[in-house]
Order: sequence, then C-alpha cells, then structure tokens
Amino acid sequence: MPVTPTAALPGRARVVVIGGGVIGCSVAYHLAHEGWTDVVVLERDRLTSGTTWHAAGLMTCFGSTSETSTGIRLYSRDLYARLEAETGVATGFKPVGLIEAAADADRLHEYRRVAAFQRHLGLEVEEIGPKQMKDLFPWARTDDLLAGFHVPGDGRVNPVDLTQSLARGAKNLGVRIVEGVRVEDVLTEEGSVRGVRVEGGETVECEYVVNCTGMWARELGEKSGVVIPNQAAEHYYLITDSIDGIDPDGPIFEDPASYGYYREEGGGMMVGLFEPHAAAWSVDGIPRDATFTTLKPDWDRMGPFLETAMARVPITLEVGVRTFFCGPESFTPDLAPAVGEAPDIRNYFVAAGMNSVGVLSAGGLGRVLAHWIIDGLPDVDVTAWDVARFRTDQLEPTYRRERTTEILGTVYAAHTPGKQLHTMRDRRLSPVHDRLVGNGGLMREVSGWEGADWFAGAGVTAEAEPTWGRAPWFEQWESEHRTVREGVGLMDMSFMAKFAVTGPEAGAMLDFLSAGDVNGDPGEITYTQWLNDDGRIEADLTVSKLADDRFWVVASDTAHGHVAAMLRRAARGREVIVEDETAAYAQLNLQGPRSRSVLETLTGADLSTEAWPFRAVKDIDVAGLPVTCARITYLGELGYELYVAADRALELYDALAEGEGVRPVGLKALASLRMEKAYRDFGHDIDNTDCPLDVGLGFAVAWDTDFRGKEALVARRAAFPSFQRLVQIKLTDPEPLLYHAEPVLRDGEVVGYVRAASYGWTLGASVGLAFVSVDVEETVTKDWIAAGSWEVDVAGERYHAEVSLRPMYDPTSARVRA
Ligand SMILES: Cc1cc2nc3c(=O)[nH]c(=O)nc-3n(C[C@H](O)[C@H](O)[C@H](O)COP(=O)(O)OP(=O)(O)OC[C@H]3O[C@@H](n4cnc5c(N)ncnc54)[C@H](O)[C@@H]3O)c2cc1C
Repeated sequence: MPVTPTAALPGRARVVVIGGGVIGCSVAYHLAHEGWTDVVVLERDRLTSGTTWHAAGLMTCFGSTSETSTGIRLYSRDLYARLEAETGVATGFKPVGLIEAAADADRLHEYRRVAAFQRHLGLEVEEIGPKQMKDLFPWARTDDLLAGFHVPGDGRVNPVDLTQSLARGAKNLGVRIVEGVRVEDVLTEEGSVRGVRVEGGETVECEYVVNCTGMWARELGEKSGVVIPNQAAEHYYLITDSIDGIDPDGPIFEDPASYGYYREEGGGMMVGLFEPHAAAWSVDGIPRDATFTTLKPDWDRMGPFLETAMARVPITLEVGVRTFFCGPESFTPDLAPAVGEAPDIRNYFVAAGMNSVGVLSAGGLGRVLAHWIIDGLPDVDVTAWDVARFRTDQLEPTYRRERTTEILGTVYAAHTPGKQLHTMRDRRLSPVHDRLVGNGGLMREVSGWEGADWFAGAGVTAEAEPTWGRAPWFEQWESEHRTVREGVGLMDMSFMAKFAVTGPEAGAMLDFLSAGDVNGDPGEITYTQWLNDDGRIEADLTVSKLADDRFWVVASDTAHGHVAAMLRRAARGREVIVEDETAAYAQLNLQGPRSRSVLETLTGADLSTEAWPFRAVKDIDVAGLPVTCARITYLGELGYELYVAADRALELYDALAEGEGVRPVGLKALASLRMEKAYRDFGHDIDNTDCPLDVGLGFAVAWDTDFRGKEALVARRAAFPSFQRLVQIKLTDPEPLLYHAEPVLRDGEVVGYVRAASYGWTLGASVGLAFVSVDVEETVTKDWIAAGSWEVDVAGERYHAEVSLRPMYDPTSARVRA
C-alpha cells in the first residue's frame, strides 16, 4: 500500500540524503552539526522500516584491527551515550559490557593481538579467565573456554530509538525529513549531481546526494552506473521465554566459535547467530514494497547452528522460544562497507552495505561522511571502504548469491593468517595462469584475479593450513626470497592495474596529477604519488613516458578503481584518451642480480647500465615478442618489468622461465622482499591521510614542478620534520612473527603501531613499517629514534626492536642501480 508523504517535497536542497535508516539519519545529523542544514532526508516508507528496525542493538567496539573502524565505533558509543541529553529522545544505550569468548588457541592469539591494538586506540579491555566470565555472565558454560575479553564500556542500544534521536537532532538544527517518498533516480549533468526524481515524477534539485538505502543501494546505484554490489542475506536471532533471575543490565556474551551472541531481552535471552554457511535473500532484487520485513525462518538450514549456539548457554534449551526472528541485512563481497564518492559522478556519495554492524557504525560513519562531503576529503583512512574498489562483475546475481553465502559466515570465523575465500574464484585469470598452477602455485584471490603466493614445485598440489605460526611452506617462501636476492626469479603480476594514457595533453595532465616529474624525456619510468588538494596521498604508482604523447600508468590491484576514476576525471574536457589495459596486457617481472644476464640471452637490446640505466623504459623484442620493458624493481634488486600483449604472454613466460637459473616466485616473496627494502604499499602501510613527507616519500616529489596539492605540501615542508613518521622496524628476536596492528613502544610508551609487516629472510627477523607519533611539540627525527629503546607488543608479549628511517636492506640502493 502506498505510504502518504509526511510533508511537502521541497523544490531544492543542498543535500538529499536518500534513506531514513540509522545511517541516513546519522549522515543528516552530522551534516547539520557541521553547519549544513539545507538537507532533506527522503525515506521511501517510514524511518527505520528497512533493516534498522529489527537490529539486535549491539554497540560493541571489540574485534577490529582497523584504526578507522575502531575510531568509528568508539565515536558511535560515545555519541549514543550523550545523544539523549541533546535531543531529548533516549537512545536506549546501556554500557552493560561485553565478554568476547576465546574458545580455541587461534582465537585467543587473535584476540590478544586485537586487545593490544585497540587498547592503544583507547578501548578499555581486559583478558579474563573462565571463572571471571562465569561470574559476569552466569548463564554460559565457560569451563571449556580458554579466556574471555571483557570490555566494560561496550553495551547495547535501541536501534529504533537511536535513529529517532538522530533524526530529532537533525530536525532541531533545520534538516527536513520527508517519509513516504521514494527516490526513483538521481539526476546528473556533466558528471555531477543535479537532483533527484521521486516516484510520481516530481524532482528535488540538489548539489549532493547520499545513497543510504541499505539493501536497496545496489539497484538505485545501478540506475546511475554506480557499482555497489551489496546483497541482502537472511540474518537470525531468537528470544526465549522469561528466565528467572536474568539481569536486564547483564553483559553481552559473545562466543564466535559457537556462532552465537547472547544478551537479555524483555526478561528472556536473546540468542543472535552468525552461521558459517548463510543464505542470500532476494537476489533478483529487493521487493519494492518490502517494509518492516520479516522472513520465513529456514529451520532445516539453521538447526545445527542453532543447537551449537544454544548449547553454550544451556538455559536457552530449557525455556521455550518466544520469538524466532529472521530479517534481511546486506553484505558486501569483502565485508567492508561501500563508502565514499561514486567514481564517475561528482557529489554522489554512498554509505551502504553495513555487513551487520550498521547500528554500531552509524555514529562514526555519519561523522566521516559529513566531513568528507563538506571538506571534499575524508579525515580517516578509507582505502578499504572506498566504493570505487568494486567491479561490475560483482553485480552478477551468481556472484552475489555465492559470495554472500560465504562472507556472512566469516563474521564469526577466526581470522588466522592464510584463510581464503573459496566462492567465485578462478574468474579472472592471468594469461599464464596454467603455468602458475603447473608449478604448484598456492593460488589466492588478488582483487578478483588469481595470484600465486608461493610454489610447491612442478606437478605438486600446494596445500596450506591457516596458522599464526611458522607453516611448513615457509621453507619454499624463504627459498623464493633468496632466489631473488641471489639469483633470478620470475613473477606474474598481471593483476596490476595498467592504463594507456595518450594524446597531446597526456603529459601535461599526468604531470599535474603527479607529485613527481613524469613528463621529462621519453623512455623514463617515474615512481610517484598523486595527491589531493590537501597534499595527501590518493595514489601511489609508476608513470612511464613512452613517447611525447604516450604514457603507461601502473598501479596496484587494490587501487585499480580509484586510479581509473582519477584518470577519467582528469581527462574530462582534455585531448587525452585513457584506456584500461589491465586485461589486455600481462606483466611479467624478471628480478634479481642475474636478471640482466638472462634477459640478454633473449634480446638484442643493449642492457648494460650505460645504455639502459635504472628507471629507463623501452619497447624491445624479447624472445621475438614485442615487449615494453622497464628497468625498475619493487623488490630491491636489479630487475625488469615486462609488459606484453595478453595473447603472447604465455610464449614470453615460457621463454623467460627457460633462462638459466630462473625460478617462479610468488607473492609471499614479493611481500618479504619489498618489506626489507621498506617499499610502500598504498592501502596497507600508507593511505589517504598521509602526507608524502611523513611517510618518507619526500624524495619522490619534484618541488620545481606544478602539481595538485603542492601548496599544502610546501606549507607542510616548511614545518618538517613533523611529530609523526613512518619508520621501518625489525625485531631483534628472529622467532616472533609480525603481521599487522602490533603496538610499537618507545621507552615503554606506545607511540604507534605496525601498519604492515612480513618475515624478512635476509634481515633474519620480522620486519614492518610502523607509523609513530610524539607529542606535537616534538619531532620524529633520526636522533629521537636513536635515543629511544624500542619494543613491539605481539599478542601481549613485548619484544625488543630496531627502528630506522632508512631502509635496513641496501639503504643506498646500490644493488638496484648495479
Ligand atoms: C537480525 C539483525 C540483527 C542485527 N543486529 C545488529 C547489531 O546488533 N548491531 C549493529 O550494529 N547492527 C546490527 N544489524 C545490522 C543493522 O541493522 C544494519 O546494518 C543497519 O540497520 C543498516 O542501516 P541502513 O541505514 O544502512 O539501512 P536501512 O535501515 O535498511 O535503511 C535504508 C532505508 O532506505 C530506504 N530506502 C530504500 N530505497 C529508497 C529509495 N529509493 N528512496 C527513499 N528511501 C529508500 C528504506 O526504506 C530504508 O528505510 C542487524 C541486522 C539484522 C538483520
């Protein structure tokens, strides 16, 4: 039945927020608080009628090793506690505490790492034993649990009341909220938002839209060509009959190994579920009239998971079940939300695909979005959330159905290194894929492509169990690492994003995008960063000038969508053609001190350093095939990157592989080799909040050229060195393994954390890149580093470390230039 609009539709507004769930209301609330009050929220039905109304209301912060995600949750928790005082509408927030149970050794190790990291970011969390867990939450069986993590400040909130409170806060500041109005389309003009058209044909002019339509976001996005591949899935909880003595202010208990979370609800116990094998809902499209939707529970599918979950809190098996609830929530292919500006439409923002944490994320996410819209830039690392990362193939119904089934199941899985997703694999294959498999490659997903992590040997099927410790295959990894350091290795990097940029204005355009000088003489490859107006890094890539009007741009697979969008935007209105050549060209890397002598046997080109120095790029014949060959490395040795048409790649691969001593080398070796040389990886150890100077990339800036973000960067240079720096860090003890998010201590005080790490086989210990900061009055310098005593916290144990601003491996790059 059509819902009557609750107010007249305004003819225009500065911002139209589409969707009145908890996310849309939070975005509107925060825009208004930042002073943007000419905002209208258009809700198809009634506020909360999508997914928000039936959320379980967990407001928990524990569990993430992302700084952005932890910050967002902490902000939300704080906001929900104080919102009632501002708006007069209670949110129902109760800081009853959370106990996260660790049922096995992998989870215990993981949670200890998480606890150390999140403590550093301000979360109060304490490890407790089974007895203490029982004291705090007497209903659970705890005798077989290893430990628990108690977060006293976490709690629960009422999602409907919270949304109403945010809406009230927004309205108080002048935001208009109109319910009963469905947005049919977003109107654009010359690549920018112009307004929205609603059901019935009326339009609202606006400068910005924010698509906060939850599980409908994909379909609305598709109408404008915006790729948001989120998919609704069944999501369950039950509420038991009354339980004598249950405390309404008792804590939340979570046992991921039993698939369940537990808390008091209406005098009974709520048992929420994250089953390991889930089910997508309504893959062909969300019904137009779906409102306050409940789904028919699938008892047969859920039975075994439910039994396991209820067995953890036995009283739930004894009392009856009052409500068994199933409702839809939407999930993305990688369990990270879809956030940010649409790649090809200016001022079209997205905040959807909340992966079952939309309520606890809403406060912080609303703040981030408002800041992003108003300032034009996000103030947190959004590299993992950027809506530009999605691909059109992820919209396909089969993809969404299959991947959703698996991804929901990972919410409560242990995150042990080496875990893989198995659905929708083998879809985008390198032209030399068969060789990777034939050599015993352990294949893993690389932004939808398949890449080899390491090689078990010709004809052997690689096998690996996830582990936090040293796996049997470390032997192969070490051997491949040493092959590149001492001999010559062959790598397939065909998944790298590659763009041909041509035309009379190509050089000027790329030069302005690049902080480096990329428009010098033809035949040079330049490692550079693309900055935003605030002088912070938007992309980290190489630009090769092949001819005056012909360039070759290569970025990492994870940055593909973002770089493509930056190029398309920059080229608009210019005499420049941008072609995405990622699938059309393979990238084969021959790397190591013996790479030159191998390549020499396959080409007539003069490869001597005099004729072909480091950073020179040329079109040559290799094994009779036309190849663009760059003398460049990401591994810290003499080496070459070869670009060849995909249909000739196999011939080239085979020719290179036959070279004397050439061995296939995988992505684990890539990680360890580059980490020893402290080469950066955007989205892992550097991100959109970083200034090149703070992360040691000042050397790549061409100060005498004009480039985007220069003014801000010049201002920052005047105040450099600053209070923060990216440093290389190596443990003294060769045993412990670093992965990511380990806190770093100087003289016993936490000053930062490891952003990315690997074992370093040549350096002989774990090595990482850590971002450290001091009091703003001080600066991070070589002397400050040398004066400190350094440690890294690995799952609660501290290990002595060495810290350096210069790469510990080959600091002068003598090997690279040899
Ligand atoms: C069983 C269950 C338990 C959960 N428990 C928790 C929890 O404990 N903690 C937690 O953080 N999260 C939880 N979640 C997840 C949480 O509910 C969601 O992530 C969150 O509600 C998503 O909010 P939203 O605003 O993005 O989407 P929605 O609430 O779905 O809001 C989107 C709105 O957009 C409107 N809309 C759609 N299309 C249009 C259009 N074209 N024009 C105008 N309006 C439109 C819809 O009507 C809807 O109101 C749970 C989810 C489920 C299903």
